[in-house]
Amino acid sequence: MRVCAVCSRQARGFGWVNPRLTRSDPRRPASYRKFCSLRCQGAYSNLMKRTGKMIDPTEMEQAALAACLGPLGDYVTALGLDTPLAAYSKDQILGLIDVVVTTYQDQMVAGHEAQAGVPF
Ligand SMILES: [Zn+2]
Repeated sequence: MRVCAVCSRQARGFGWVNPRLTRSDPRRPASYRKFCSLRCQGAYSNLMKRTGKMIDPTEMEQAALAACLGPLGDYVTALGLDTPLAAYSKDQILGLIDVVVTTYQDQMVAGHEAQAGVPF
């Protein structure tokens, strides 16, 4: 499964290739990226137009992970701080995963948009 180059969701037919590389440039195929949505494609495209390069994903990923702490804390607090993880129902666990994954993905998209300086 190909994943979105911005948020890691499943790619869905949106693509980008470096227009600065000619069709015969051997680096052109490696520049190809796939995306889940027009929003992620736009964020990436705007970032590449502005900077000409991809930003350090490690730094952005770390920021996205840190952004999950607040929503995760809110979710756990809503379930009751005295409730151990082992006592969570399957739906509560899935809700916890959803909070973290959705926040992470949204932060990755927002991070790309912020770096590009242009909200899509
Ligand atoms: Zn995406």
